[in-house]
Amino acid sequence: MKHLTLDPSKRIPLLREDAKGGLVQERKPPEPKSIKGRYGPASGSGAEDASVFFIGTATTILEWQGIRILTDPNFLHAGDHVHLGPGVTAERLTNPAVDLHDLPPLDVILLSHYHADHFDQLVEKSLHRDFPIITTPHAKGCLTSSEYKTEDDGGPFRAIHALDAFASMMLDIPDGQGPNEGEETSEGNENRGEKGEKKKRKTRIKITGMPGKHVPPGPLSIVNDLLGAVPPTNGWMLELGYGPGEKGGEEEGEEEEGEEQESEDDTAKTGYRIYISGDTLFVDELKKIPEWLKQQRVDLMLLHLGGTTIPSPKMPLLMVTMDAEQGLRLMRLVDPDVTIPIHYDDYDMFLTPLDDFKKVIEEGKLEDKVVYLDRGEQFRFKVRGGLSASPSSVL
Ligand SMILES: [Zn+2]
Ligand SMILES: [Zn+2]
Repeated sequence: MKHLTLDPSKRIPLLREDAKGGLVQERKPPEPKSIKGRYGPASGSGAEDASVFFIGTATTILEWQGIRILTDPNFLHAGDHVHLGPGVTAERLTNPAVDLHDLPPLDVILLSHYHADHFDQLVEKSLHRDFPIITTPHAKGCLTSSEYKTEDDGGPFRAIHALDAFASMMLDIPDGQGPNEGEETSEGNENRGEKGEKKKRKTRIKITGMPGKHVPPGPLSIVNDLLGAVPPTNGWMLELGYGPGEKGGEEEGEEEEGEEQESEDDTAKTGYRIYISGDTLFVDELKKIPEWLKQQRVDLMLLHLGGTTIPSPKMPLLMVTMDAEQGLRLMRLVDPDVTIPIHYDDYDMFLTPLDDFKKVIEEGKLEDKVVYLDRGEQFRFKVRGGLSASPSSVL
């Protein structure tokens, strides 16, 4: 398995303009409008050690152990347009909760596919070419192609890692960052003094590509022309956890930030499992996900909804992301402890509003399985196996 070391002390600047002078500007993480937990408001006890901040569309910041992962960066504003393929243009209706230039320091981007409502023209132009991105082989081809990117635009991207469905890579987080460093954690730090013990643990996030399909199978002769507008897409499984202890005392210092390494040492105990659906319809391929899980539970699902329909709201020919009914079917298939819908109401061609999903969830009596986040809100959770776990919070 490929390994990628993410060391917050050696971050690559997210933006080209930040790279001038070689310094990562230390902006603070955005202040959430409100903070939610599994059963309503977050406990406030400090027991939660990880979070998801919803920016808009499929853009979120996942934070754990001092590492911040940005998903599907889309930072256009209401009234801006994206080009999604031949003859397909969409208008954004919402604003991101944070602007691209106000983001806190980040470690890696997870990009589900190369669509402009997930990786827009502003992002494409502004990002530092050495910032690590994990994505599909198709998107890697686009982002690294020198044909498309002149040096004026920043040139091709240089740190793109591609994963196919069910292929995995390991993000290794060097020890010593401490839980939620830089954040105010007034309580729940009773065990932070046990530094010797903590140092022996490897903090890891295993990322696995999950299947996804924008287009339903079967003959699509009527809409053949539209197929140029639907790139291959991934979902993701993120397994947050801890690897085995180190053999020696000191961390080996030879690993380069942003370098991939092959390693035999691929084990990690999962403390929290997050499934991100990506832009997919409810297709047969998704049934392989429970098989892959082998009875292991999904704690959190980020569900891309929207009922996105192309080529335009006025000519709705082909639905390419799940509507409310399909979202419900995926919830039943994957059976996560918590589902958070994202990718809704942001573009004019998202024809299925979030309210439709709320309705089917009510009818299915599944309200206690869904947490609704507005843009700018944060969900906090506890990763099992951490040193500050109180027995009552371990499920
Ligand atoms: Zn898409
Ligand atoms: Zn999309």
